[in-house]
Amino acid sequence: MKHSNQQLLDRIKADIIENNVCPNLAETATQLVFGDGNAEADIVFIGEAPGKKEDQDGLPFVGASGKFLAEMLASIHLKREQVYITNIVKYRPPSNRDPSPEEKLAFLPYLQNQLEVIRPLLVVTLGRHSGVAFIPGLKISDDHGQPKRLRLRISDNVDRKSEDTILDNRSSITELSVVILPLYHPAAALYNGSMRQTLLDDFGLIPEILNKIRKENN
Ligand code: URA
Repeated sequence: MKHSNQQLLDRIKADIIENNVCPNLAETATQLVFGDGNAEADIVFIGEAPGKKEDQDGLPFVGASGKFLAEMLASIHLKREQVYITNIVKYRPPSNRDPSPEEKLAFLPYLQNQLEVIRPLLVVTLGRHSGVAFIPGLKISDDHGQPKRLRLRISDNVDRKSEDTILDNRSSITELSVVILPLYHPAAALYNGSMRQTLLDDFGLIPEILNKIRKENN
């Protein structure tokens, strides 16, 4: 039986809880903030970690940064429901501290599995934490707004405790070709007015980048 992308994403979400990923963060957080939006989206946005409002609502980017993200999406005629939005780290770090390298690493296989299910044309990373997870050595001040095609080697190294096999009928390593667009984090614009315009300008590149990817893929 073929499962829908949403069912597969629900399975990954359940795996995070069953495998007790980052128990230190799980303990202080209200809930898991897994992801939101269209499981068939062409674009996936990846932030850093949930903040206070996200932790309360269980949804990514619903606070002040999310408001600006929605505004930037509207500037290119997209609604939140048309894209998929998630974070590297899926529990709120206490007092919004930066996630540690270990915490980012612990969630990485689950993030990769999310991308493997959605298979987006474009992955937009928001901020340095998210960008360097895909592009080691990324210098956000130089590299923002410049798309890069990558081959992600995705190993199914998620330890599945459940008997559910819906994600298991695959080879253990798959390759996913994906274009990454590293951008500044929307929160940067909340404190710095010129960053707001930089982000809006970078967002303005997205439609053309998508068209180019669609042409290359045909
Ligand atoms: N900042 C992030 O990186 N992610 C969120 O979900 C909210 C704010």
